[in-house]
Amino acid sequence: MSVNTESFYQLNAELKKYAAVLVAVSKMKPVADIEALYALGQRDFGENYVQELIEKAPQLPAGIKWHFIGHLQSNKIKYIAPFVHLIHGVDSFRLLKEIDKQGVKFNKKISVLLQVFIASETTKFGMNEKELAELMEGAELSKMHHIEIRGFMGMASFADDEAQIRREFAHLKALLQKYKAQEIANTKLEILSMGMSGDYMLALEEGSNMVRIGSMLFGGRQ
Ligand SMILES: *Cc1c(COP(=O)(O)O)cnc(C)c1O
Repeated sequence: MSVNTESFYQLNAELKKYAAVLVAVSKMKPVADIEALYALGQRDFGENYVQELIEKAPQLPAGIKWHFIGHLQSNKIKYIAPFVHLIHGVDSFRLLKEIDKQGVKFNKKISVLLQVFIASETTKFGMNEKELAELMEGAELSKMHHIEIRGFMGMASFADDEAQIRREFAHLKALLQKYKAQEIANTKLEILSMGMSGDYMLALEEGSNMVRIGSMLFGGRQ
């Protein structure tokens, strides 16, 4: 087993100060590692690939809350819809509509986070602000009764410029507050999923209440 228990306890102590939720990112890590962290009390786990998630989930305790944090293809929603706890990376109106459709099929309200593009790089996924505004302020959202938008997810630039990273995180928080105040149908904007192993402290200081941490807990990935 290759779980860093010391980091796990330190991280939990830190997160407690911010009342933030830890999503342990277990992509490419064996079921045994997830079981080890589960035994220490961890319940929220994040996976990036549908195939990997549907192979692992049945081997693990039903008490796990599975977060899908990868890039979701619309033809694969049906495989995770029945059991997924929260889908973080919803980055288009089209995908949201497909998730709603699957929610109808499984008679379930599916919780999602919209992924918003906040970084300076062009490689990151996510909606830009215009797309976000169109979705949040458009007429279609009120018709999607089988999804609930619980908040936003964002990834900061892979940069050394701490001030820039802070600005990006703070900007996402401001967007969340802006739309929260509008009390839009089928939304309950409370979650700000920001921060990974390398930048979670900055994210917490800028208002994150959900961090997605992998390598710090499970070691590096190939
Ligand atoms: C892999 C991944 C993480 C975890 O990254 P670490 O640097 O290993 O903590 C967090 N969020 C997303 C979207 C990821 O793909």
